[in-house]
Amino acid sequence: MNFFGRELNVYKANLHTHSTVSDGKYTPQEVIEHYAAQGYDVLAFTDHRKTNPVSTYDGKGMTLLSGIELHPHIMEPREIHWHLLSLGVPEDFPYGDDSNFKTAQEAVDAVNAAGGMVFCAHPYWCGLTSLDVKNNLKNILGIEVFNSSCRYIGREFNMQSWDELLEAGCRYNALAVDDVHSQSDLFGGYTCILAENKEPQSLLNAIRKGDFYASMGPEFKKITFENGILEAEFSPCVKVNVLANASSGYCASWDNYLHPENPEEYTSLKKDFSQWKNCYIRIQIQDKNGKYAWSNPIWL
Ligand SMILES: [Zn+2]
Ligand SMILES: [Zn+2]
Repeated sequence: MNFFGRELNVYKANLHTHSTVSDGKYTPQEVIEHYAAQGYDVLAFTDHRKTNPVSTYDGKGMTLLSGIELHPHIMEPREIHWHLLSLGVPEDFPYGDDSNFKTAQEAVDAVNAAGGMVFCAHPYWCGLTSLDVKNNLKNILGIEVFNSSCRYIGREFNMQSWDELLEAGCRYNALAVDDVHSQSDLFGGYTCILAENKEPQSLLNAIRKGDFYASMGPEFKKITFENGILEAEFSPCVKVNVLANASSGYCASWDNYLHPENPEEYTSLKKDFSQWKNCYIRIQIQDKNGKYAWSNPIWL
């Protein structure tokens, strides 16, 4: 994929996975076999409060990443547990139980000090507002924009929270994940990591830099931004938007709002943003089956 002028490989990843090590239905090896058979390249184990000895597992050709989902600190007065998706932590990351961290920030700091990184998992499902996230967490990399597992109560999307955080100046990227616990969560949302190779450090560096996009199905083939001109190529989509601060933004598929019964499919986007200043722009595309893909924001 041409990603801002660099030719990078695309590695399909599920970055939020539970197994029988916590409350998942599948053993670690069973969940590996499901994702390997579906053609995934990367699987991160993120059991509740527990790491996995991923270096001892047979990845069936996939790269396995060490992770953990942390639940520090009940946020008063609404008694909300944080769900902190932590990637790249050492397999012996010392966690134990919730009492290790008095605040969510202490947990984030511990993960960062151990060389890992944190995304705030499914804020809408948790009942967390964008202000809760902004005011309580520093030095996280972003949020989940889509979480397959949360669709059972209709709270799988976090697009508005993401825009609110971006609007507030939080330079957050966003993942799409399955948060797989059982069969019904498999293969709903994934993250395409854009990296030179699929060694763990190369993949983690790419995630840290924001070299990825989130998807439920549509594929980006190119995203470039040169001299203020945004260009993208992607698999056929019926809605193509560029979201930006407040009431600004852009729709490249406007005709489909006039003729929704027979929507035209678009495979590219080109728009001059050279006059836009002090804002973010992010691309959001949706195919005729209703499935989205999301680029990370570009800061102007
Ligand atoms: Zn969770
Ligand atoms: Zn989870």
